[in-house]
Amino acid sequence: MQTQKDILKYLLGQVWKPARYTGNEWNAVKKEHSSVDLRMAFAFPDLYEVGMSNHGLKILYESINRNPGMLMERVFSPATDMEELLRKYNLPLFSLESHKPLKEFDIIGFSLQYELSYTNVLNMLDLADIPLRTEDRKGDHPLIVGGGPCAFNPEPLAPFFDLFVLGEAEECLPAILTGYMDLKRHGYERNEIIARLSTFEGVYVPSLYNPAYSGEEFIGMERKDDRAPEMIRKVTVENLDTAPFPKAPPVPYLQTIHDRAVIELFRGCGRGCRFCQAGYIFKPVRRRSRDKLQQTAKEIIDNTGYEELSLVSLSSTDYPHLEELINNLDSDLSARKVKCSLPSLRLDSYSIKLADKLHQGRKSSLTFAPEAATERLRKVIKKNITEEEIFTSLGDAIDAGWQGFKLYFMIGLPAEHDEDVVEIVNLCRRLREYFKGRAKRKISINVSVATFVPKSHTPFQWEPQLSMDEVNRRQDILRTGFKKLRGVDFSWHDARASFLEAVFARGDRKLAPALEHAWQMGCRFDGWSEYFDFSLWQRAFQKTAVRGEDYAYRRFSYDQCLPWDHLSCGVDKNMLIAEHQKSLAGEKPEGVTHDPDLL
Ligand code: SF4
Repeated sequence: MQTQKDILKYLLGQVWKPARYTGNEWNAVKKEHSSVDLRMAFAFPDLYEVGMSNHGLKILYESINRNPGMLMERVFSPATDMEELLRKYNLPLFSLESHKPLKEFDIIGFSLQYELSYTNVLNMLDLADIPLRTEDRKGDHPLIVGGGPCAFNPEPLAPFFDLFVLGEAEECLPAILTGYMDLKRHGYERNEIIARLSTFEGVYVPSLYNPAYSGEEFIGMERKDDRAPEMIRKVTVENLDTAPFPKAPPVPYLQTIHDRAVIELFRGCGRGCRFCQAGYIFKPVRRRSRDKLQQTAKEIIDNTGYEELSLVSLSSTDYPHLEELINNLDSDLSARKVKCSLPSLRLDSYSIKLADKLHQGRKSSLTFAPEAATERLRKVIKKNITEEEIFTSLGDAIDAGWQGFKLYFMIGLPAEHDEDVVEIVNLCRRLREYFKGRAKRKISINVSVATFVPKSHTPFQWEPQLSMDEVNRRQDILRTGFKKLRGVDFSWHDARASFLEAVFARGDRKLAPALEHAWQMGCRFDGWSEYFDFSLWQRAFQKTAVRGEDYAYRRFSYDQCLPWDHLSCGVDKNMLIAEHQKSLAGEKPEGVTHDPDLL
């Protein structure tokens, strides 16, 4: 008789990239399930290559596994070839470490990083043979927990999750897991355990709240249980130096998106760009000390053997004395041929100097995100860089030998006019001419233009997204302009995918049936252009009588209740209103209209 392990072995020979499912990587932690009191699976609703680059996974994996009474294993979204085989052979989704079915775990914690992974969440639950909806789960089903940025507005997912964790899970997860074990030991029923967990810091149990509507208008959350708090506040790590830090993460056998060792310099970002959710939900800024970083860097390199160490943060070049830190790391690690790298750079001369220091060999390309091409619009979004600074920084980079630039812009930002869109092309033209005069070689310019998606907990949360037709029209302006501009590569985001992201980013519980329907019709990996099928989503919305436009294109008023008002990221709503009003001061420039000849 064939066991699950035999069949699995057989399946691994038939799928592309079997290392996505084998586990057994260097530093992977294997514990006997029977030797611990609590078994948790960290579930990432995207491919292994994407999930293994997630820093949160590494933090939680190491800190939970350090506890002798608990284990954490990993599971990623199976690729479509593996899904097909799992369904064909009726095999349940399994974890990487023990290859045990997910159903055998006590808790499954989903990392919710982006809205377009939601259908993968449902798919993973289904493949694990776990009822999708919390109301259908019984006593022996694992607790389904969600965390990450999307937990700050999880309403479209509310019926599928037993609870959400708001904020930095390494701070509160150990207490939640211990509490769960205690409650279970005392013989409480599943629903009672969940209700009692709602009193824990940072825990939101959606089934204890009823969204109330007046007609179609959401008017607030009604609590069904007095124990559930009126306002759920996020949990933050106060001191990063004493917080868990991954020193021996599993080293993948296949190339992942970020295939390198990582140290986190600081958390939060003090820049306050008004469109950026990460900048708000990770407030306040907290730094790791240089001593701690140096010591950890050595340990990580010892434990992983990586030859690259990335100094990550939302805005790494804002770390004080970064140059000194890099010098120290260099002298500690250069004998082992380890290079440091920075994931993102500010557009200033200091950053260019640092990048120059870090890249002694071939200098291929640097990435910057001016986001908007006019100074007026950059002021609206609070990306306070001048055109002079852009030219000076890129000029410095050319002098230092860099051969190309990737530039990220956005369209559809509040208070944007056609002139701002046209200026993206014009700015690139001016840069191209400037480079020609300054560099002895050809400089490549890659321009990527995304579409603005209003996100919860930001000053732009009240703003509508542009209609798809309007996004397409503005993209046409860019396509026409860039077609005439040789030497600049231009790419843009699919307006339909940005629309879907906006629908779910500000959505409420009424979206859940549409999500479930879309998954049933075959939607998976919606963030991947090769899998994204918007016609299925249109059918799902139609079938469930949901108008996505009502979520994405809506301008909310300040006094309206928002589906995430009961979830606090620590930033006062009045402060967001004040920031929003300040942004509106960026008026349309006098007497300028869109003139196609400007291109
Ligand atoms: S866009 Fe970057 S610099 Fe601006 S707030 Fe977000 S993380 Fe910080």
